[in-house]
Amino acid sequence: MTLTTTTTDEDQARQLDEHDPMSTLRDQFHIPPASGGPFVEAAYMAGSSLGLQPRSAARALAAELETWAQFGVAGHEHPARPWMSYHELLRAPTARLTGALPAEVALMNSLTVNLHLLMVSFYRPTTERHAILIEDSAFNSDSYAVRSQAAFHGYDPDRAVIRLRPRPGEDTLRSEDVIDYLNREGHRVALVLLGGVNYYTGELLDIPAITLAAQAQGAVVGWDLAHAAGNVPLRLHDWNVDFAAWCSYKYLNGGPGGIAGAFVHERHLDDTSLPKFNGWWGTDPKTRFEMRPGFDHTASADSWQLSNTSIMAAAPVLASLRIFDDIGMEALRGRSVRLTNYLEALLDELCRDPRLTIITPREPAQRGAQISVRIKGLEAEKVRDALRYEHGVYTDDRKPDVIRFAPVPLYNTFHDCWRAAAGLADVISKHSQ
Ligand SMILES: *Cc1c(COP(=O)(O)O)cnc(C)c1O
Repeated sequence: MTLTTTTTDEDQARQLDEHDPMSTLRDQFHIPPASGGPFVEAAYMAGSSLGLQPRSAARALAAELETWAQFGVAGHEHPARPWMSYHELLRAPTARLTGALPAEVALMNSLTVNLHLLMVSFYRPTTERHAILIEDSAFNSDSYAVRSQAAFHGYDPDRAVIRLRPRPGEDTLRSEDVIDYLNREGHRVALVLLGGVNYYTGELLDIPAITLAAQAQGAVVGWDLAHAAGNVPLRLHDWNVDFAAWCSYKYLNGGPGGIAGAFVHERHLDDTSLPKFNGWWGTDPKTRFEMRPGFDHTASADSWQLSNTSIMAAAPVLASLRIFDDIGMEALRGRSVRLTNYLEALLDELCRDPRLTIITPREPAQRGAQISVRIKGLEAEKVRDALRYEHGVYTDDRKPDVIRFAPVPLYNTFHDCWRAAAGLADVISKHSQ
C-alpha cells in the first residue's frame, strides 16, 4: 500500500497559515535549520521534549551576565532586577499560567527535586494508608521518585506503589477508571501522583474530577505538570490541587535545565506542622540575613525553597513567561487544538495502513498539543532519524515503536504538520519495500 499526502494538502496547509493571525508568533523563536529535505527550516515537532529558544532569551541571559560583570556581588541588589528577589519576577506570570495565587507558586530547582521536596511534606504514610497511586506509563523519573519515597518510609515499593493500567486493548487510562479505582480503594491511598498530560500518549486527564475523588477518600493529590504547563489551561487553585510540580523546558521553552515550578495550595501554606526540608531561601526574607539558627516560616510556596535562585537558569524562563503572558493560555490553546486536529486528520489518512495507530485520545478536550503514533514493525528510533535527516522533521521517539509529534502553537505551522505527515508517509513507504 502506498502512503501519500497530496500537493493539494500542501496548498491547503499553506493557506491555513496565511489566514492564521497567530502564525507570526513563530517569529519570536529561533527555528533550527532543517538537517535534511527540501526546506530551509526544520519542522520542529519535538517541543514536548525541549521547547525552542525564544529570541528574547539571549537578551535576558546577557543582561544577567552583564550585571555580574559590572556589579559583582552587588548584583544581588541590582536596581532593576536584584538577584536577591529574582524568583519573585517569575511569580506573577507563573501564577497566571497555572491558575494559582501568587503565594502558591515557587520557581526553584528542577522537576524531580521539587517532587521529592513536596513529597517530604505531602506523603505522610501510615500503616493503614501508605499507597501511592501512579500511572503504569508514568515517566521513569516519577516512578523512581515515588518508589524511593515509599522505601524511605520503610515500605516495600512493589506493594506500596500502585500502577494503574489502561483497560485491556486500550492505550490510555480513562479518568473515570481512575475515579472508580479511588472510590473502591482510596482508603488505602496516601498520595495520588499523576501526570496532568501523559508524556507518552499526550492524554490530558480530568484533573479536577480526579482531585475531587481522591480527596473525598482522604488522599492527598499531587500533579506532575511537566507536559501540561504551557500546553493546556490550568486552574490549580480552583481545582483544589494539593501540590504540583513542573519543568520549564518542554512546552514552556525555558531552556535545558531551566528553573522548575512548584505549587502548594493556599490551604497548606499556614500549616507549620507539615514536615519540610529547610534551607535559607525558604526562611522569611526579612530575617534571612540575621543568620539565626531557627527557621522563620512564611505562608508562601517560597518556604519550600532551599537555595538562592539559579539566575542563569531563571533568566530564559522569565523571557519565555513574558511571551505566555502577552498571548494568554486560552488563545494559545485555541491554536493548539486547531493544529493538533489538523495533524490528526493528515495522520489518519496514513493510518489506513494497518501498521499505524494513533494512541492519543481522539477527543480534543482529552489531549494536549500532541499526537503519538504507534508504528508496528519499524523501530521508532530509525523512523525518528529518517524524519530528521531525510525530511528535516524533528520528532521524539519512545521505545519500541511510538513516535510523538507535538504541534506547538507558539511556533509550529500547518505546513509543519503537513511536512510531518508527508515525511512519515515517505519513511514508511521506503521501509516497507
Ligand atoms: C520531562 C519529565 C521529567 C524530567 O524530570 P527532570 O527532573 O526535569 O529531569 C520528569 N517527569 C515527567 C513526567 C516528565 O515529563
